[in-house]
Amino acid sequence: MIALDIQHVRMNQHAVDKAQALQCLVNILVEDQLVTPEYLQGLTAREQQSATYLGQGIAIPHGTPQSRQYILETGVRLAHFPEGVVWDGENKIYLAVVIAAKSDEHLQVLQILTRALIDDVSEQVKNAQSAEQIIELLHAQPPSLALHENLIATQVAAEDVEDLIWHGTQLLKQQKLVECGFLSALNPKHMIHLGEGIWSITANQHVLSPAVSIIKSEQPIRHQDKELSSLLCVASNDQLDMPQFNRLMDILFDPAQLSKIHQEQNSHQIAQLIGAEVIPDWPARKIILANAHGLHARPATQLVNITKNFQGEIQVAADDGAFVSAKSLTKLLSIGCRRGQTLTFIAEPETDAVAGLDAVIQAVKDGLGEEVEPIDEHTAPVAQVPEVLTFEQPNDGNNKGIAASAGLAFGPAHVVKPREFQYDRFGHSLKQENERLDIAIRQVKNSIRQFIAQTQSSAIKQIFLAHLEMLDDPDLIQNVKRGLKQNLSAAAAWHDYIESAAKAQEALKDRLLAERAADLRDIGERVLAVLCGAPEISEPEQPYILIMHDVGPSDVARLNKDRVAGILTAVGGASAHSAIVARALGIPAVVGAGADVLNIDSNTTVLINGDNGEFVIEPEQSLIDHAMAERAKQQQLRTEAEQHCLDAAITLDQHHVEIAANIGKVQATAQAVKYGAEAIGLLRTELVFMSHNSAPNEATQEADYRVVLDALAGRPLVVRTLDVGGDKPLPYLPLAPEENPFLGVRGIRLTLRKPELLRQQLAALLKAADNRPLRIMFPMIGRVEEWRAAKAILDEVRAEYPCDNLQVGVMIEVPAAALLTPILAQEVDFFSIGTNDLTQYTMAIDRGHPLLSAEADGLHPSVLLLIDQAVRSAHQYGKWVGICGELAADPKAVPVLLGLGVDELSMSSASIPLVKAQIRTLNYAHCQQLAQQALRCESALAVRDLVE
Ligand code: PEP
Ligand code: MG
Repeated sequence: MIALDIQHVRMNQHAVDKAQALQCLVNILVEDQLVTPEYLQGLTAREQQSATYLGQGIAIPHGTPQSRQYILETGVRLAHFPEGVVWDGENKIYLAVVIAAKSDEHLQVLQILTRALIDDVSEQVKNAQSAEQIIELLHAQPPSLALHENLIATQVAAEDVEDLIWHGTQLLKQQKLVECGFLSALNPKHMIHLGEGIWSITANQHVLSPAVSIIKSEQPIRHQDKELSSLLCVASNDQLDMPQFNRLMDILFDPAQLSKIHQEQNSHQIAQLIGAEVIPDWPARKIILANAHGLHARPATQLVNITKNFQGEIQVAADDGAFVSAKSLTKLLSIGCRRGQTLTFIAEPETDAVAGLDAVIQAVKDGLGEEVEPIDEHTAPVAQVPEVLTFEQPNDGNNKGIAASAGLAFGPAHVVKPREFQYDRFGHSLKQENERLDIAIRQVKNSIRQFIAQTQSSAIKQIFLAHLEMLDDPDLIQNVKRGLKQNLSAAAAWHDYIESAAKAQEALKDRLLAERAADLRDIGERVLAVLCGAPEISEPEQPYILIMHDVGPSDVARLNKDRVAGILTAVGGASAHSAIVARALGIPAVVGAGADVLNIDSNTTVLINGDNGEFVIEPEQSLIDHAMAERAKQQQLRTEAEQHCLDAAITLDQHHVEIAANIGKVQATAQAVKYGAEAIGLLRTELVFMSHNSAPNEATQEADYRVVLDALAGRPLVVRTLDVGGDKPLPYLPLAPEENPFLGVRGIRLTLRKPELLRQQLAALLKAADNRPLRIMFPMIGRVEEWRAAKAILDEVRAEYPCDNLQVGVMIEVPAAALLTPILAQEVDFFSIGTNDLTQYTMAIDRGHPLLSAEADGLHPSVLLLIDQAVRSAHQYGKWVGICGELAADPKAVPVLLGLGVDELSMSSASIPLVKAQIRTLNYAHCQQLAQQALRCESALAVRDLVE
């Protein structure tokens, strides 16, 4: 973090011209060991591109990207030139803030400077007598209070006061007004009731700039025996503009105003009622900034020059921040926009600025004088395509991905990816465009109604009924029609609004809202397709191969098992959650097949083999026949296995292994039992949490867990406490972004930091148990202390909610825990080995890595050695060991795991019948010999060959 410091100011510097001044600045940087002398070339080259005059007698010289090689350490120095130096031909500078920044840290400096430069300080800069004066001048910030429409959210789904506080903090955080720690500084006990269900809560720690956010709950909730419908989150510090704050308070203490605010649901209206800044209802255009170093001085200057070509006002905001004039360099710099952030430009209606937005957007797209690498707005950055797919066998149509879910499938390709449409930006006549829009919407609504009438699935019906409702939303129609009035074509007005509405939804990072963004885009695309005369891409009639970039756990609801014959994805690994989803549904899947699969033409026949990861585009009929004969054989085996799935898994020499199911939805328990599960061996509670739109409270959780225990009818339930983090974020549980989330605050590391959350979950579990067999285990245990801390919390909860039939264990997923099983085994009741993570952490390969995950094989001897260690430790102390990672259902792994002495195998329900059938063909004594040999192998491949 760059800071402006008194020690870094050099007073009384002298230079006759700019060249001498630059030399003087480099000398200072060299003296302080921030750069080597060659940095002068960078400073000079940069000034030749365009002068770094900022305004108010200040310049910000800095090097070019090429001269970063001469920077030893990031830093900034200030030099005061009392006589002044002519900087850009006409302006003299008295202060140079010279920056040596290895990346884009200089944007922070610009933000600090521009805040100071809102007032006219040029005389004070010129006449400054001391370093203290200069720093004070630059740091001086006018009193402030951010109070604007973007800080107001209505209709927020909240179950309790903590939900509201969290949402209030999120709004402030998104606008960088508060930092991490603010949330915990807000104490619900100190909330003040203003009247009419409106409360306020204040904190003055971790505040970056004073602000107020307002959250209105969808449903009033109870707090301290009173109604709570709206919450004001006040972030206060000594820069708080008291007169402005008092004006707000006067409004809020006026009962008449308070009652109006209470009744109002529109954030724009509420903003007006409380005198907050409102977002001007002006035509808007958005673009993602692609400049590598953000909107720094040079591109910002270009932007100012372009916007100044128009008489009308043009304003801009970064992401959901406040709007500033795009004609003011200092204001532009003050928004500190970085690459990847969205710039929203708005133009004063009925002026030339409206038409000017196109030129502005184009200029930003072109890089504002810099070379830019465009950001694809539709797809997240993806890893490189595995080369073997695209280049090795380009002509014969044979390709290979990662085998993720067993089985053969073929059918027409149904490629789901964003489509691109061509349309004119401006329309012919308002009447005509209005009519086109109405007709297109009507047409789409009719086709949705037909689809609803045909579908059998109520879940799918619900999705499309919601789409119909969206298309009827008067707000949406009104906003699009507003675009038409700005002469936009129906397609442009429709697309602009849908896209901006969808992005606004996504930005809130609320899962429910984020999902609504996908739905918005879905209807958006359908209507746009009609407007552009593009043929509708209908789902193939017969079962198809769904081709997508990736399919995540949340896509499950959208998959119709009867229509999706197989899944082929561009990214993903065998133990990524996308693959787990496919296996759970029993749909053959090949994942990580590379981005080229997205270029397969829809309706082309594709054959996939989920057993070896192969797929063939446009296979010969003979190949399809052969594959289908093979599939018939597999299905025959499966049918036979299913007939005996309720029988125990006992080897030929009478060794019994318990077979359990992994589930993520409570409703899946009955199906698991039907497939022969003797227990639930892993209830992934974070997935249960994800099925709720906001954090489920204790009662909701209790009800969920009861569903599982009831359906199990006395069979044991192994529950894993919340395992959030890694690739499983929980939208309503804010997590600070991390460089390596799989190595970060995940699983038990998170819940130990939020003990209330853990306590609540444990209480819900113990209350639901009613003395039925319950086993609770903690995920991601790496240290003995973590296990003990979690167990201590459980003991406290158990003292309140006694539970007789309880076992407590840990998941062995971190090599450290596996190695410490001799200690852990003395204290726990059982181990459940999560081989997905244990393999990922042992092999140091991301389990979802598109290139490497195939190498992260759980049959690698290093992983087997850790399993062996865990089993031996457990058995020494009479404890049991289960395997709940994907390895448990791998036919090659089953004999090895049995031979290592594992007591339980837990897998997706669909795998149970076949694994049970396989075990009935095995001999335990042979398996033991095999396992010992496997431990001595040198590679996973060698183990697989051995089993073969
Ligand atoms: C595992 O890591 O093996 C496991 C079962 O947990 P999850 O896949 O849910 O991370
Ligand atoms: Mg895991």
